[in-house]
Amino acid sequence: MATATKKEFLFKSELKVNDFEHKRKISHAISKYNSAVADGKKQFANLEAARKISKNKKWEAIEKLDEKLLEFENKFSAKGGNVIWAETIEEAQQSILDICKKHQCKTVVKSKSMVTEEIHLNKFLEQNAIQSIETDLGEYIQQLDNEAPYHIVTPAMHKSKEDIARLFYKKLNTEANLSPEELTLVARKKLRSKYTKAQIGITGGNFLVADVGGVCLTENEGNARLTTAFPPVHIAVVGIEKMIPSINDLNLFWPLLSTYGTGQKQTVYNSIFTGPKQINEIDGPEEMYVILLDNGRTKLISDPKLRESAYCIRCGSCLNVCPVYKNIGGHTYNTTYSGPIGSVISPHLDNYDEQNHLSHASSLCGSCTDACPVKINIHGMLHYNRSLAKSNSTTDKNEKWAWRLWQLSMRKRSLVDLGSAAVKNKVVHKLFGDTWSKNRTDLKFGKTFKQLYKESKK
Ligand code: SF4
Repeated sequence: MATATKKEFLFKSELKVNDFEHKRKISHAISKYNSAVADGKKQFANLEAARKISKNKKWEAIEKLDEKLLEFENKFSAKGGNVIWAETIEEAQQSILDICKKHQCKTVVKSKSMVTEEIHLNKFLEQNAIQSIETDLGEYIQQLDNEAPYHIVTPAMHKSKEDIARLFYKKLNTEANLSPEELTLVARKKLRSKYTKAQIGITGGNFLVADVGGVCLTENEGNARLTTAFPPVHIAVVGIEKMIPSINDLNLFWPLLSTYGTGQKQTVYNSIFTGPKQINEIDGPEEMYVILLDNGRTKLISDPKLRESAYCIRCGSCLNVCPVYKNIGGHTYNTTYSGPIGSVISPHLDNYDEQNHLSHASSLCGSCTDACPVKINIHGMLHYNRSLAKSNSTTDKNEKWAWRLWQLSMRKRSLVDLGSAAVKNKVVHKLFGDTWSKNRTDLKFGKTFKQLYKESKK
């Protein structure tokens, strides 16, 4: 099973690497991102200090996660909110379905959320005859095209404005070749009435704030505010690792997330939800639920070498600098979270046997670690994941044999010298011809060190 999935990954990677149109679109999007981020970073008087402090804050939240989660629950419940603990995807799905049934819900509106992708919510709701409408423009485009998000921040990054115009023409009967402004107006018109008709609004959460019992949302389009303002019920699905200790920490996390996510100094709309509508308040839902999702996170956090991965604020910066991601694209990973951080966490949150090969989807160049606002040692964890995959014996059989032979011969000079260069080249070609040498110059043996040394003595 693992081998088939790895083979599929390699096959799709090769296709994408040779897709120059894909490369052109991604390079264009990332070059715009790069110049915006360089500008955004200027707002920090001392960026390194900001990164270190944010890492310390996440360290504090994750080290005391058990206490912080309870603190969050107490504060949120005190304001009339409901907290649901979901250990698995199925538990989260069932809780949402129960709420939908209670409210005889036939339509939900959703704002952008990767964790709802993780629990396959749209598909699940559809199977239960509930329509789920994505309201973030990028997610709306992806839903129209029946595709998963391509990137954790910019879901339709791989589509040009012409691609989107063609999609709207095909699916929504618009005129062909609409401009981005016209396309946005079409989506806006289609979506407006949905907010008022939906019985439930579903969001994710960028942060959970322990000391006020709040769920924070940050967005540019205002769709999350509409999703949470009109429907009488709001469900926020949030991974437990999104915790930060205090509302005061948002001073740092909001600008860091916006700068590293899109290059903005501050995202346009930033909201904190601490419960349903209170007496004397005119806006907001009558009922609010927060589903705290584990789905493998406690296991991940319990490994000291992987714990840092829970500091991730999902800014997408490590994806944008990764030479592998830029070449193979987001869909090739076939996981909810792609790119370097996705390769670290996905095997532990999803299917280990099918996804542990992803730790090899990295050159270990360390660009991801350098680009991370919370200074997560991403490439170190990819390296660690490789060693885990090896000790879990899921490594390809040929590769295992090759490394064993290499190890054996490197330890013994007589073995290194054994056989002529021609024989060694034949063996190496047999072992690595389909893998290492496929896209590289053949590995070639020449004279041994001993031979060269002898010759030099003469
Ligand atoms: S690992 Fe760091 S760079 Fe990557 S998405 Fe998370 S916070 Fe951003």
